[in-house]
Amino acid sequence: MGGKKPEGMVLINDQGLRLDGRRPDQLRNLKIEAGVLKQADGSCYLEWGGNKVMAAVYGPRECHPRHDQDPTKARVRVRYNMAAFSVSDRKRPGPDRRSQEISKISSEALDHIVLASLYPRNAIDVFIEILEAEAGTRCAGLTAACVALADAGIPMKGMVASVAAGKIDGVVCLDLSREEDNFGETDFPVAYVAGTNEIVLLQQDGHFSPEEIDRALELTAKAAQEIYALQKAALLRKYESMAQSGADEERAEDAESASAQPEAEPDAAPDEEPHADVAAEPEAETTHEEVR
Ligand code: UDP
Repeated sequence: MGGKKPEGMVLINDQGLRLDGRRPDQLRNLKIEAGVLKQADGSCYLEWGGNKVMAAVYGPRECHPRHDQDPTKARVRVRYNMAAFSVSDRKRPGPDRRSQEISKISSEALDHIVLASLYPRNAIDVFIEILEAEAGTRCAGLTAACVALADAGIPMKGMVASVAAGKIDGVVCLDLSREEDNFGETDFPVAYVAGTNEIVLLQQDGHFSPEEIDRALELTAKAAQEIYALQKAALLRKYESMAQSGADEERAEDAESASAQPEAEPDAAPDEEPHADVAAEPEAETTHEEVR
């Protein structure tokens, strides 16, 4: 933000389009996948423009170190980390002030939505790994973390969807790209609770007039609804595929027991229904349908 813009660089052209062809109110492409890691209790992989983000959740589990325990509620602890290979200039590995700040604000945002009082003395650990960064990683990380929390079955009062607005060439725009973030005038990340539109994160780097703040809130609130729809769809896909693989397993078990059946035939009573196996099949199908 606030970097010196190269001479002749135009962030918004005469048609009102941005460098990547987007309109001011348009999000970058966003893809969300839930439940991608086997070892974590919940997880999410997200691609948002040039950002690639993995989030993993462990817990609720006993909080360590013990002096960190809160007897009234669980601690929601977020660790945001940017991989050394995530940006063009290798990022020095390990925590720095920026990652500590993002971890703190993300913990505070999620602490507002997790029903932490259900798990006294526990910790809910959220890991956000930025694999590739192209501006807006704190919003992408928080959006992914919330899907991972839901995937872990953590009770929440709502999902959090996060997106930034900003000012480039004097125009308030949604979801800044890297050049816009580097050479724009203002960056304004916000996180909303879906349904209530309560704001659980709001930061501002640069200046906005009161009217520009209103416009930024309008753009981000509308985009948060779109993001929430994608979060929900990702979780639904995960549960549909779980139900599908459960049904496939059941079908495979049925097939296995059906193929074992002929061996038992010689002992069968002579007046037994000859097509008992076949008759049983449609019933099993109905059960699979019900599962689905
Ligand atoms: N960035 C970088 N190296 C760093 C930190 C950030 O190249 O050590 C880039 C990265 O693309 C990041 C962008 O600068 O997404 C903007 O960073 P900012 O601190 O504004 O946070 P973000 O917009 O990612 O939430």
